Amino acid sequence: MTTAPVAGGRSAALERYEAVVGIEIHCQLKTVSKMFCGCSTDIDGAAPNSRTCPVCLGLPGTLPTINKKAVEWVIATGYAIDAEIASTTRWDRKNYFYPDIPKGYQISQYQLPLAANGRLTFDTSDGPFTVRVRRAHLEEDTGRLIHAELGVAADGSPRRVSLIDFDRSGMPLMEIVTEPDIRTAEQARRYAEELRLLMRTIGASDAEMENGQMRVEANVSIRPRGREAFGTRVEVKNMNSMRAVERAIAFEIERQAGVIDGGGEIHMETRGWDEGRQSTYHMRPKEEENDYRYFPEPDLPPLIAAPEWLAEIKARLPELPAARRSRYVESLGLSAYDAGVIVNDPIASSVFEGVLQAEPKLPAKIVANWVTGELLRLVKGSDGNLDVSEIASLIKLVADGDISGTNAKEVLAEHLASGASVASIVEARGFRQISDSGALGAAIDSVLAANPAAVADYRAGKGAAVGFLVGQVMKATRGQANAGMVQTALRERLDEPE
Ligand SMILES: [Zn+2]
Repeated sequence: MTTAPVAGGRSAALERYEAVVGIEIHCQLKTVSKMFCGCSTDIDGAAPNSRTCPVCLGLPGTLPTINKKAVEWVIATGYAIDAEIASTTRWDRKNYFYPDIPKGYQISQYQLPLAANGRLTFDTSDGPFTVRVRRAHLEEDTGRLIHAELGVAADGSPRRVSLIDFDRSGMPLMEIVTEPDIRTAEQARRYAEELRLLMRTIGASDAEMENGQMRVEANVSIRPRGREAFGTRVEVKNMNSMRAVERAIAFEIERQAGVIDGGGEIHMETRGWDEGRQSTYHMRPKEEENDYRYFPEPDLPPLIAAPEWLAEIKARLPELPAARRSRYVESLGLSAYDAGVIVNDPIASSVFEGVLQAEPKLPAKIVANWVTGELLRLVKGSDGNLDVSEIASLIKLVADGDISGTNAKEVLAEHLASGASVASIVEARGFRQISDSGALGAAIDSVLAANPAAVADYRAGKGAAVGFLVGQVMKATRGQANAGMVQTALRERLDEPE
């Protein structure tokens, strides 16, 4: 029995062995209709088999039609990862038998994927890391098998049945396959996170792992350090969160090291991740590629992409996460850390951009501090009442010295909780600071007149006396004076020649 290794993949096994990991990710693409028919892709919560037609049920005599939007998403992804886009591609049949695939084959792309030879760079705890992406292609999803207990068998035991829901059958899927460049569990997780962010940024997929919109599989092998040849690889599936990706791969590296160290042999197999046990388990022997007997799909023509269409897709790409991070660092002067936190979080990103758009003169660093600190802490889970223009006005009030930072945090919390405007909260709570020099001057005059001893102390060289006097002014104004301005004004007055 191998013990669960530490997350991040730092382990004794990695001192002797090098892990070689490739990742395959399937993403459900955001389209209105399915890949090869007009059925709705709105299947979440739909009644089983309510989103089906003869095409996606695989009935004989039906013909597929290509969903143009799905093709565009794969091409857009290809451009986003610097891949080569094929101007001519075709469809292939991947043949295998399984109850959730009634045609007996899946329409996929084998020899000519839409995108090939790309790369994705992301940050890790050891610095930036680049993974080469071998290919990104388009295919159709399968139906879903549901194993359930229905009633009671003759012997009184629960009757086990398997049900099929074809709502998912024919949903557009993009498969993205890396080269075996990954060496640690952390790199694998970070790659998957960066790809998820990329999918959401370009809009190709919502990429929620929990509901299967993004499925991550890993091919894991190990080899003694210094050896060139790859070890036998094991495919790991059923990792339903980013944390599970990292844990499962780290576990699998340790497991394989344990088997080899014990004189055993690694077999080519598919293993599943058991979240409860935090370990992988044998599912089935792994099929070889030639078991699928790929051949060109006779019902679909080759796909020829006009150069103007490709150019249009490329031009529609938004600013990508990597470009945005470097813009924040290079043009706005943010730290690499802050830029990463903001870009990786969709709420932080849109608030940061929105605030700077509403108040372009605000220093970006101050906006970043608010967004990455108080705001992210408070909006955890819900951004229901968040109004970017209100956040902008709040940050401006602090930057202009009209309310204190401490009070601003309370205003932010109340705005997020109730949706009330920043101005009305500041007004109702009496948070507006006295920054008017006339009003402030009057308060300072009376404090100086009432505290001749402290004034004398200061002039005798006891600088600390100024702190006492600031406190007196704050007290006289019931805390509404701008403490910074009071400090400056007091010193000016005290340093005046008598
Ligand atoms: Zn259909």
